[in-house]
Amino acid sequence: MAKIEYRKCAAYGCENKIVKNRKQLYCSATCRERMKAIRRRGKRIRKNLCPQCGKEMDFPVSDHRNKVYTSYCSKCKLYYKSRYKDKFKADLRA
Ligand SMILES: [Zn+2]
Ligand SMILES: [Zn+2]
Repeated sequence: MAKIEYRKCAAYGCENKIVKNRKQLYCSATCRERMKAIRRRGKRIRKNLCPQCGKEMDFPVSDHRNKVYTSYCSKCKLYYKSRYKDKFKADLRA
């Protein structure tokens, strides 16, 4: 009987093992979708587009040296800001 070989899921940071002789790269649809999203973000960042929505940045990209975080367009920034605020409020209530 042939020994089943395993390899690691190709998704970034995933340690799950999958059977090697299958064409499958990822352990699950979750990993596949996650990597798809990561690749899409990378593509958008290289094109200087908002990594979240893929639209053009509507403000000048900061050339500040210390700026390492990816920024989003103003709309997405606002969205994240409000989401964070909601979360903060929820935490306070808990
Ligand atoms: Zn995985
Ligand atoms: Zn955006």
